Amino acid sequence: MVTRYDNCDLSGRNTFRMKVKCALFVEVTAEEDLPVLDWDALPQPVLVMGGGSNLLFTKDFPGTVLHMAICHSERSEESRSEESVTCGAGVVFDDFCAWAASEGLWGPENLSLIPGEVGASAVQNIGAYGVEAKDIISGIRAWDRQEACFVDIDPADCAYGYRTSKFKTEWKGRFVITAVTYRLSRTPQPRLDYGGVREALEESGKVPVPGTCPPPDMGRGRGLFPKGMGGAGTERSEVEFPGTGTLSLAPGDIRDAIIGIRQAKLPAVEELGSAGSFFCNPVVSREHFERIVATAREDNGPDYQVPHYEVGDGIKVPAAWMIEQCGFKGARNGGAQVYQNQPLVIVNASGTASPQDIIGLENQVIQAIAQKYGITLHPEVEHV
Ligand SMILES: Cc1cc2nc3c(=O)[nH]c(=O)nc-3n(C[C@H](O)[C@H](O)[C@H](O)COP(=O)(O)OP(=O)(O)OC[C@H]3O[C@@H](n4cnc5c(N)ncnc54)[C@H](O)[C@@H]3O)c2cc1C
Repeated sequence: MVTRYDNCDLSGRNTFRMKVKCALFVEVTAEEDLPVLDWDALPQPVLVMGGGSNLLFTKDFPGTVLHMAICHSERSEESRSEESVTCGAGVVFDDFCAWAASEGLWGPENLSLIPGEVGASAVQNIGAYGVEAKDIISGIRAWDRQEACFVDIDPADCAYGYRTSKFKTEWKGRFVITAVTYRLSRTPQPRLDYGGVREALEESGKVPVPGTCPPPDMGRGRGLFPKGMGGAGTERSEVEFPGTGTLSLAPGDIRDAIIGIRQAKLPAVEELGSAGSFFCNPVVSREHFERIVATAREDNGPDYQVPHYEVGDGIKVPAAWMIEQCGFKGARNGGAQVYQNQPLVIVNASGTASPQDIIGLENQVIQAIAQKYGITLHPEVEHV
């Protein structure tokens, strides 16, 4: 089914809560709707939008916003240890994560609570706590606007990298993703060594002791998948926690821990408009990193340690750290603010911030960091 709304208000459809309109909003509920759309008659340009959680609308959009409200899902057993789940592009990604955890299937638990829809997960290569979407995506189905046909895209051809893919570069605007297939595992594969997950599990007091784990909550993903498809049972992972002993973990335990960490650090989009991390974390050469360390030690004393991660030949320096060092934590520009609990996030603090308030703050941050550290920060949030 195709639904059309002329001159549509988008303020409830972007998590930054920008009060903007588009000339036409089109929503399709089935793949078959795409070939019969009169593409040439649509106001141009056409923007495919999911949940609007990585977008900053800078003004009214003169063209068509197309939303995939395709919400079917299908499950197939690949082997005794693996399952494939194909989700329509419009499925809320966290509903899929909740469902997988409730079924005891390993794979997406570290990506829990990331806003947005399944279609965008394959565009953005969303990532959190040491896991990226590319680690679990096994297939992508899309409408090719250039060739006017459906295609099945191999993720190996998508040039996935840190929050990027060909969908954001050379394929920009070409493919409308209709479904994504994820490969999930029944064999435990906990990834705990990133962003305090291990500590959160240990400290939460919720970590079950061996033999006393409650069964997974089968209700969490209800409604997303037809009844009677699940219930394969959970294989737990025996993980050694120094001081606590060996503990038995299910994917739902890790999901719960990650939800706890995220809720403490990130603004809930229902309460405070944002698009998550506003900037990408830059990667610099070793020589450049040494210069950053020297500057940081001038500011903070000779023993100061700069947070960083080794990535291939370079060093990733958290943009949040630089933003804080430049004194921007909590800084305001009109209704926009650098979020106090996580300076990588810019929020619509007043609820009525304009795009210019946000862009003004973005430019102040970019300028200050370029001046102090010689780094040009690039926004992760897409400006429309
Ligand atoms: C509070 C908060 C926390 C966040 N935390 C994280 C995090 O931890 N990790 C992370 O990676 N991201 C995070 N994000 C960013 C955001 O959630 C992701 O980028 C998400 O994938 C965006 O999904 P969406 O459906 O809202 O996509 P949108 O913002 O609507 O679109 C994003 C891009 O995908 C394209 N697109 C969307 N759907 C389709 C489709 N069906 N076919 C083709 N192209 C499509 C759009 O054209 C656009 O280019 C966070 C955002 C917020 C607000």
